[in-house]
Amino acid sequence: MHDYATLSASAITEGLKNKNFSAVEICRAAISAARDTGQKLNAFISIAEEKAIKQAEAIDRKLAAGKTPGRLAGVPVALKDNICYTDYPTTCGSHILENFVPPYDATCVKKLLEADAVVIGKTNMDEFGMGSSSENSYFGPVKNPIGGQLVPGGSSGGSAGAVAAGIVPVAFGSDTGGSIRQPAAFCGVYGLKPTYGAVSRYGLVAFASSMDQIGPFARNARDVALAYSAVCGKDDCDTTSKDFDQPDFDGLLDTDRKFRIGLPKEYFQEGLDSEVAAKVENAADVLRKAGHEILNISLPRTPLAIATYYIIANAEASSNLARYDGVKFGLREADDILAVMYSKTRSAGFGTEVKRRIMLGTYVLSAGYYEAYYHKAQQVRELIKDDFANAFKIVDLLLAPTTPTPPFKIGEKIDDPLAMYLSDIFTVPANLAGIPALSIPIGTTSDGRPVGGQFMAPAFGELSLFQIAGWFERTS
Ligand code: GLN
Repeated sequence: MHDYATLSASAITEGLKNKNFSAVEICRAAISAARDTGQKLNAFISIAEEKAIKQAEAIDRKLAAGKTPGRLAGVPVALKDNICYTDYPTTCGSHILENFVPPYDATCVKKLLEADAVVIGKTNMDEFGMGSSSENSYFGPVKNPIGGQLVPGGSSGGSAGAVAAGIVPVAFGSDTGGSIRQPAAFCGVYGLKPTYGAVSRYGLVAFASSMDQIGPFARNARDVALAYSAVCGKDDCDTTSKDFDQPDFDGLLDTDRKFRIGLPKEYFQEGLDSEVAAKVENAADVLRKAGHEILNISLPRTPLAIATYYIIANAEASSNLARYDGVKFGLREADDILAVMYSKTRSAGFGTEVKRRIMLGTYVLSAGYYEAYYHKAQQVRELIKDDFANAFKIVDLLLAPTTPTPPFKIGEKIDDPLAMYLSDIFTVPANLAGIPALSIPIGTTSDGRPVGGQFMAPAFGELSLFQIAGWFERTS
C-alpha cells in the first residue's frame, strides 16, 4: 500500500502522469486522513467528499484521454473556512455564518480547479481570522499534530495542521497579521504570505481588507512556489489585485544565486525566546558559510507595529463585520423590533474575541478618537513602510524569527488577549508594509517543538523567497 501522506504536490503530479496511482486513489486517501487524523486534531469544519471525488474522476478521465493536465493535477488541497467554495458552508469559524453557503467560488478556488487541484475540505480557524492559536473557533480549538496539547498557531491553524499531519500536501490560509506564517512556524511547515495584491481577495471573507492575503502552506519550498503560482495574478473582481510579471518559477528554483540578507536588530530583543534566537542565528551562520552576505540592519519603527496593526485591523474589522446583521447573511435571532433583532443576532452570533475587536475598532473610528488613534496609526504605517524601503536599498532579503516563542499549550494565553497579541509581533510588520514573507522550518527546541524563521522580500519578490527557502532546504 502506498504511503500517500508523505507525497509532495510535485510527486503527485508526476506519479499521476506515470500512472503510479489515480487521482481518485489519492483523493480517497486524503479524505480518509481528513476524517481520521483531521477529526482528532479538529482541523476540518467540513469535508467536501462528493465534489472532491467527482473532480478526481474528471482528472483521471482527462489523463486517460491523453489531455494535458493542469499544474496541480490530482493534488488534494484544503481551504481555510473563510474562502468561499460553493455547495458547502463557509463558516469563518463563526456561529453567525454556520449555515452560510456561498453562491460563488473565490477566484483562488476557480484557479485551483482550473489547475486540476482537488478540494477535499474546509479547515478550522479562529473566528473571522481573529487569533493566534486557533482556539477562538465556534467549532472548538484545533490541536497541533506534534502532540503535547499544543496550539497549532492561528488563525489558519486547521490548514497548517492538515499539511503538517500529512492529510494534504498543500492547504490555503489567509494572513492579515501573521495567520499563515505563525501557524506554519508552530507546526513545522512552510507558509507564504504573498505581496498585498498578488492573490485576488475576491471570495475571501474580509477581516482587514488593506492587509488580508490568501497564501499556501506546504511541506517544501517547491510546493509553496507551485501552489502560489497557481493562484496569483490580476483579477478584475478585486481592484486591489495587481498586474505583475510572474516568472515561471519551476526552472528558477535550483539556483546558486547569492543574496545579501539583513538581520533586523529590533527582532532580536527582549521577549524573544533564547532557543528561537539560537535557531535563527544558526540559520544565519549556515547562510554566511555558504557565501551569502549577512548584515546587521535596523528597522527602527518595529516597536510600533503591534499597536499600529491592532488599531488598523480592528477598525477595518468593525466596518467589515457590520454586514452580519441577521438580514443578509447567516444567523438571525428573530424579534419584532428591528434594532433588537440586530443586537440579539450579533450578540448570539459572534464570539468574545470578535466582539472585543468590533468594540475596539468602533472606538478608534469614532468622532473625537479617529484623529488620535486611527489617523495616527495610518501615519505610523507609512513610517513602517519607509523602514522596509530603506532596508531593501541595502539588502535583498531580511531574515527574522517568525514568532517570539515556540508553540504554547492550549489554554495558556486564552485569558490574556495582550499576551496573545504579542505572538504577532514579528509577523504584522510585513502586512502593514504589504511585502511578501515566507516562514520556513529551521529546527526544533530541546523539547522537540518546531521553530520557524521568516524571510521577507520587497513587493513581488516571491521568487527570491522561494530560491532562498529551496537553498536552505537542500543545504540543511
Ligand atoms: N493573529 C493576528 C490577529 O489576531 C493575525 C490574524 C490574521 O492574520 N488573520 O489579528
